[in-house]
Amino acid sequence: SKEDVLAMRKQHLSPSLFLHFKKPVMIVEGKMQYLFDERGRRYLDAFAGIVTVSVGHCHPEVNKAIHAQNELLQHTTTIYLNPQVAEYAKELADRMPGNLKVVYFVNSGSEANDMAIMLARLHTRNWDVLCLRNAYHGMSIGTMGTCGHHTWKQPMPQGFGYHHALNPDPYHGAHGDNGPAYAADVADLISAATPGQVAAFIAETIQGVGGTVPLASGYLPAVYKMVRDAGGVCIADEVQTGFGRTGSHYWGFQRQGVVPDIVTMAKGIGNGLPLAAVVTTPEIAASMASRLHFNTYGGNPVCSAGGRAVLRVVDQEKRQEHCKEVGDHLISRLKALAAKHDIIGDVRGAGLMLGLEMVKDRKTKEPAKAELAAVMETMKDEGVLMGKGGLHGNVFRIKPPMCFSRADADYLVDVMDLAIGKL
Ligand code: PMP
Repeated sequence: SKEDVLAMRKQHLSPSLFLHFKKPVMIVEGKMQYLFDERGRRYLDAFAGIVTVSVGHCHPEVNKAIHAQNELLQHTTTIYLNPQVAEYAKELADRMPGNLKVVYFVNSGSEANDMAIMLARLHTRNWDVLCLRNAYHGMSIGTMGTCGHHTWKQPMPQGFGYHHALNPDPYHGAHGDNGPAYAADVADLISAATPGQVAAFIAETIQGVGGTVPLASGYLPAVYKMVRDAGGVCIADEVQTGFGRTGSHYWGFQRQGVVPDIVTMAKGIGNGLPLAAVVTTPEIAASMASRLHFNTYGGNPVCSAGGRAVLRVVDQEKRQEHCKEVGDHLISRLKALAAKHDIIGDVRGAGLMLGLEMVKDRKTKEPAKAELAAVMETMKDEGVLMGKGGLHGNVFRIKPPMCFSRADADYLVDVMDLAIGKL
């Protein structure tokens, strides 16, 4: 029973884990944008396993590809040739702009960002890494130091040489949507905090865990130039924003018209399979050419088959276009809801990567954290699973599987309206 599972979890799983709801939900089955509990109750999933199930729970194409490869070969490592991983690397590289042609496969977003930072340091022979306040890049020893909130890391030395720049946050920041104004802080960091040299600048193109914060317009072009002028490389963390989710573009960085030197991806890349990747240029990759670097599961054939199926489904089912269409509709309905309820301070994001910030007062923007938790719990009781995030836990994160329909969007807004009304 659910109670037994909870008891076993408490006794045998790490005490650092947390449950999303006060009254926990047990999920035993998933189908596209729906999840089912142990009693067969259906939920509309607006969080996709934390923005990971990209094309849909147990998508038939992905399942078919995984099963076929599973029957053939599960694992060998990359010490032998295998067509699956090589063809996957090519297909992924074909979707990248510029000279981003070399792929390293790993298993999680943290590993991908670890690897990206290592590559940047080896290539530039510099050490300092610039990141953003409010950032989230992982929980490994190497990435913890980049995170912008104390609860996203452990109280211990977190790697050295990380410097946090002013967040280019259009809703909370002092410069509104003026990206270059925030970028001036990066220039200060380069000259004051580093010896004028940087290894890398790393940023999500829409901050995810930090509460769906789209970077202010023109921020990345200004910062990329400063960082490159100082000898550093630019890393885009596309762990949440990639594969068409933002609707207008396949990659989040394209929203700002930049081409990074290193791109990291995870989550949506594998529709839930443990799969992640780092893509970079041959020049940067060459910094490791004479050195061994190995990852046992990286490029695993079953995960590669699943990842290739995700690429095909996003294209064939026109998921990017779909995210744009449904996302635009959802944003406009959420904005209409904000006109009705003062507690909604901001609606933001792009495609099916949306955020809704709840505030006690629109002027002071005081976080309405308890109110958000109550609304989230009511929505769950009404059959809609929402995500949350932000430094103060007062931002709804709406990031469903990309098959989420217009009718699903309408249902979500109606349920949210009802739940806010109950406050
Ligand atoms: N980068 C971003 C933007 C993320 O959202 C996450 C996970 N929330 C990570 C990196 C780390 O990924 P993982 O949990 O797979 O290590």
